Amino acid sequence: MSVYLNGRFLPLAEAKVSVLDRGFLFGDGVYEMVPVYSKRPFRLKEHLRRLQASLDGIRLANPHNEAEWRDLVVKLIAQQDFADQSVCVQVTRGTPSGAQPLRDHPFPRNAAPTVFMFAQPLVTASAAQKAAGVCAVSAVDNRWQRCDIKAISLLANVLLRQQSVDAACAETVMLRNGFLTEGAASNIFVVNDGVLMAPPPSNLILTGITYDVVLELAAAHGIPHEVRPISEVEVRGADELWMTSSTREILAIVKLDGAPVGAGVPGPLASRMDGLYQTFKQQVMRA
Ligand code: PMP
Repeated sequence: MSVYLNGRFLPLAEAKVSVLDRGFLFGDGVYEMVPVYSKRPFRLKEHLRRLQASLDGIRLANPHNEAEWRDLVVKLIAQQDFADQSVCVQVTRGTPSGAQPLRDHPFPRNAAPTVFMFAQPLVTASAAQKAAGVCAVSAVDNRWQRCDIKAISLLANVLLRQQSVDAACAETVMLRNGFLTEGAASNIFVVNDGVLMAPPPSNLILTGITYDVVLELAAAHGIPHEVRPISEVEVRGADELWMTSSTREILAIVKLDGAPVGAGVPGPLASRMDGLYQTFKQQVMRA
């Protein structure tokens, strides 16, 4: 498997970074995860825009312009022997050089960022998983206040996601001060009385690329939708609950904390939106 590290494509086993890398010592970096269908990246422009926003959020200069990123991503995709991919792009604040302390919180002087990219086979939800839906657990969102930055420091998300693994479920639905934020690794949508609802973009959630596509499709197809704060009561009383992400796409949550969501089976709007999403993907890929 060929990966990209700091200007070179090389086999995974040969890709090495310093143990003093800020990403390793401080989780000081950001990343993106781009889905690739039949070797074509989906919504790359939007992912690169969000990467820029994340880099701005951590005050790290973008090492590449959009054309350079596009070129690197396309080259990485071409080197893989599988067609559907999940491309991870990671940029850290690099390694301090010269006489600087080995480990020191302030930004190092003159450190070049570390740029690492790899691709792995894209595993979306199976037909069986879509048909059955998945279970989720809820938890208090105890992350920091800049969840809009796609930071590699994901310890809180890891611990939160593990809670759902421990319960043999697919996701942890997070609530902060009685309101829905998002999943540990996804956005969460609620359907009540035929209205699709999503929490508004803010510093408390990562605005997903899939989240944007879902709302665009709702608007384009006349599906009633509202972007507004959603209370825990509304979540627990939902007719439908979905998780969305680039890899999971649109997946119905049919059980929350052991209680059925709505009828306890994937709802009609989830299957409709999944259909719209699959069609949209194919149209974009053909264009
Ligand atoms: N929120 C969090 C915390 C995530 O990790 C993800 C997945 N990257 C998302 C939302 C969904 O984002 P996207 O649709 O861009 O994959």
